[in-house]
Amino acid sequence: DPRLQGISDAIRVVPHFPKPGIMFNDITALLLRPGVFKDAVDMFVERYRGMAIAAVAGIEARGFMFGPAIALAIGAKFIPLRKPGKLPGEVIAEGYVLEYGTDCLEMHVGAIEPGERVVVVDDLVATGGTLSAAIRLIERAGADVVECACLIGLPKFKDFCKLNGKPVYVLVESR
Ligand code: 5GP
Repeated sequence: DPRLQGISDAIRVVPHFPKPGIMFNDITALLLRPGVFKDAVDMFVERYRGMAIAAVAGIEARGFMFGPAIALAIGAKFIPLRKPGKLPGEVIAEGYVLEYGTDCLEMHVGAIEPGERVVVVDDLVATGGTLSAAIRLIERAGADVVECACLIGLPKFKDFCKLNGKPVYVLVESR
């Protein structure tokens, strides 16, 4: 797809952010270019339209920048998966391991109905730990994760294209 090169080119790589040695893939540069931003959303919409997706679940914070646009275009609801302590209602939580320490995602109880078909959206998959926690959360609610969708996948991610048995769809490889 010719749109992929433009998407890849619009992602800014920032060396040594947030820590020395880390190459950060900055999608805010892509958001400044409405044509490319639309191409990225469109590619996901074309993939998930007509698949009876009831919900798009976006991971805080950069999954919030793409998930709602995709959800509206395919006629699905949007569910925010948030960092601890942000959601006001009753939540279920799933922890996951980071390079240093642990983190957690929370989802409102009742956001999703058993049996609903869900796509999980984030900007980037590296180890897959964050997406795995999201999949566990949604499955605990009795819903069905159809696929995880990310703009960017780290090259090492190419070695496994499934997480918890769920397919992961990536638009471009990180540079
Ligand atoms: P994982 O859990 O797959 O190891 O890491 C993915 C999570 O870390 C995603 O939520 C993603 O937003 C964030 N992340 C890690 N590295 C980067 C990066 O270089 N760029 C961006 N935009 N997000 C990153």
